[in-house]
Amino acid sequence: MKPQEFPQDLQPHLIPAPSGDMAYRCLECGAEYGITELLYTCPKCKGLFLLIDKNEARLKEKPGAFWRRLFDHRKMLNLPALKGVFLFYELIAPIIPLGDIIYLGEGHTPQVAANADLQGEVGRAFYFKNDGQNPSASFKDRGMAAALSYLNYLVRTENLGKVLAICASTGDTSAAAALYGAYLGDKIASAVILPHGKVTPQQLSQPLGSGAKVITIPGVFDDCMKIVEALSDNYQVALLNSKNSWRIRGQESYAYEVAQWFDYDVSRIAVVVPIGNAGNITAVMQGFLRLHDLGVIEGLPRVIGVQSRHANPVFLYYREPDRAKRVFRPVTVSPSVAQAAMIGAPVSMPRVIRLVEEYTRRAGEDAVLVVEVSEQEIMDSMLLANRHGHIACTQGGESLAGLRAAVRKGLIDQDETAVLDATAHHLKFVGFQEMYFSNSFPPEFEVTPKPEYQNQPQLLTPKTGDAQGKVADLAEQIAGLLKLTPKKV
Ligand SMILES: *Cc1c(COP(=O)(O)O)cnc(C)c1O
Ligand SMILES: [Zn+2]
Repeated sequence: MKPQEFPQDLQPHLIPAPSGDMAYRCLECGAEYGITELLYTCPKCKGLFLLIDKNEARLKEKPGAFWRRLFDHRKMLNLPALKGVFLFYELIAPIIPLGDIIYLGEGHTPQVAANADLQGEVGRAFYFKNDGQNPSASFKDRGMAAALSYLNYLVRTENLGKVLAICASTGDTSAAAALYGAYLGDKIASAVILPHGKVTPQQLSQPLGSGAKVITIPGVFDDCMKIVEALSDNYQVALLNSKNSWRIRGQESYAYEVAQWFDYDVSRIAVVVPIGNAGNITAVMQGFLRLHDLGVIEGLPRVIGVQSRHANPVFLYYREPDRAKRVFRPVTVSPSVAQAAMIGAPVSMPRVIRLVEEYTRRAGEDAVLVVEVSEQEIMDSMLLANRHGHIACTQGGESLAGLRAAVRKGLIDQDETAVLDATAHHLKFVGFQEMYFSNSFPPEFEVTPKPEYQNQPQLLTPKTGDAQGKVADLAEQIAGLLKLTPKKV
């Protein structure tokens, strides 16, 4: 729709001019820092940052209804910069001029209703929100769109020259970082550090294809993260892990889209997300809290985090009901099919602890839950979803397994509707499906395939060599195999 065709009162706001006053605020000591430097942790105390808009009060001058109308109308505007996560420009990074924003088609992912069969089996109405339908096939693109748009802006305004962007990854962060970096061409060089043998071949192919320098090291993600932290402390590099608070901002868009989908009435919704480094659940909680601050939503949805028993430090922390007795202890991970979430020392844990406090203060003690699931439940749930027309990856399977666990334990009400984050595309994790089908999981995964979910291709060979006969013979074999009924003549 053409800008001049929008309602008169919205026209001045439709295409926003930069505004706001963004700064990094340290979670631990409260110190604030300007955003013109490449900073990831507090130089004084090493605390994590949250990005703040020191002028956010200006947004509260408008009622919630204004923002709802603006965001809903903006969906009809055909301007690439505002087509993705920056549809919610004022909430993401309102200091970045539209000309610096990169849009590769991220965000506004489909929310697909589970069919009646599947809802019956699970016992609740629910949707999968398919974040695997982002450009690099995971939700990480939401955060990279914000982080790389900011870098693009910084390179231009601070004359930085070529920037080296670096990240540790369980696979999807590196795919997204390399893709967005490649789009920026000469301004950005990308390097990614991966745990050797612990990303899928599909994930490994992604940063290679985008031209990033790919370095693999022995160990798990947590080992890669330590190296990237040492590099970003001591060298001029742009860090693209979720320590980078621009990524959290971009990922908040998931919460905004869920709210928009339900016409901003989310008080009977439960949003289910798998937890790895805990950046995603941080962004989801923060996104809903900020909508609540602005009066865009009146009630907060429930947020359910899910962890595999093989990588469960957040679950263990919240298992202790007495707040005063909770102590965070990193765990040593064991192999998990939810490999993108196989993290023992989640970097965003200090953010999670603070946000859960605020969230439960506003919405009640059980407004945030963390549940634990087995590897078996994850695989079975992924295949159950796939069997009902969904494209959930193993982490999406983890979300479904988490919903089933929450229902089983009576943690969510009968009339609640769940939205499950299918965080990546099924095709990135087909190796685990293949292990399931061929019953070849190494014992430490503790997965025993259920025969009803297994499937294998069947090879048929023609019994004759001549071309004509071959067709007839194979057709006959297949008709027999499928028990086809001959047509009546
Ligand atoms: C990164 C990732 C996760 C974990 O998200 P965090 O923000 O690290 O908690 C889950 N699923 C997929 C597919 C991922 O790529
Ligand atoms: Zn500090």
